[in-house]
Amino acid sequence: MNLTALSNQKTIFSLEVFPPKKSTPDSAILDTISQFKAVDPDFISVTLGAGGTNPLGGNIEVADIIQNQLGIDAVAHVPGLYQTKSEVLQLLDKLDEINVHNILALRGDRIANRKPVGEFNHANELVEFIKNNRPEFNILGACYPNCHTDADSFIDDIANLKVKVDSGADHLITQLFFDDDAFYEFYEKARIAGINVPIEAGIMPCTNKRQIERITSITGVPVPKKFQAILDRYADNKEAMRDAGIAFAVDQIIDLVSRGVDGIHLYTMNQADTAARIYNETKSVFKATEVH
Ligand code: FAD
Repeated sequence: MNLTALSNQKTIFSLEVFPPKKSTPDSAILDTISQFKAVDPDFISVTLGAGGTNPLGGNIEVADIIQNQLGIDAVAHVPGLYQTKSEVLQLLDKLDEINVHNILALRGDRIANRKPVGEFNHANELVEFIKNNRPEFNILGACYPNCHTDADSFIDDIANLKVKVDSGADHLITQLFFDDDAFYEFYEKARIAGINVPIEAGIMPCTNKRQIERITSITGVPVPKKFQAILDRYADNKEAMRDAGIAFAVDQIIDLVSRGVDGIHLYTMNQADTAARIYNETKSVFKATEVH
């Protein structure tokens, strides 16, 4: 998959899923993941918990289904903080075997009371390691329109992002955000800093107040008044919260696509029906960006 070439032809539409619980039967995993085929994504990425004790489990199995049963390009997330170089090489061998050659290289979140292995302290080190040892892999990286919580300043965060891209990340996906203006400011600063790879905007349709409170408290992403009003009014009404959350995400996507964003990466939380509703509301807008 050549993401740069793809983003020159159209606005990319991609999805993120997480591996179902270990106890989930294989057929149920296949059912869950298969539902996303109807949404016609350019690729599907699969998360992997930073502290995953078995890096060869979970997301490899799901990536295999996506790539080889659904025929959609899969991207495997690989957090480096708690992995050794030899574990990463093992993981890459396994991905090579199933013909998955796209990696989202991450540092990963720190786990309380667990000491990082110390071989990959930042994502750029993992990117460089993969680039040098396994150049056949395409490498994607993460970025933060509202600034990463560990960064001393936005400028530092962008400078660190430039190092990650110069190390070999050729495509970026942002953390979720609710204020498109934050994305445009970040995008402009990244371009000024010489970061010229495609940047996909990460959008999370929020259909559950508790879930969004948990995510925003971890990520520090601000909730604008317009979205807070939705959360306050509809938190206890499942159907209204879902409709309003989907409408808010659709509004963000239409604004971003109209203003020329490189791509939209939908954080699906494995909710295929929500992804389908968003796809149906926006597919003509994506189609209109295709270059023939
Ligand atoms: P880095 O790029 O290393 O950045 C982390 C912090 O360090 C930033 O403040 C940055 O400015 C700073 N920094 C970067 N490089 C340097 C350097 N060389 N020297 C000094 N400072 C530096 N987590 C998971 O565990 N599993 C997942 O599957 C997962 N998927 C994600 C998908 C996306 C699209 C995003 C946006 C995040 C995802 N995360 C995932 C969360 C991610 O692991 C955390 O946000 C983590 O805290 C940072 O990861 P990173 O790769 O951006 O780190």
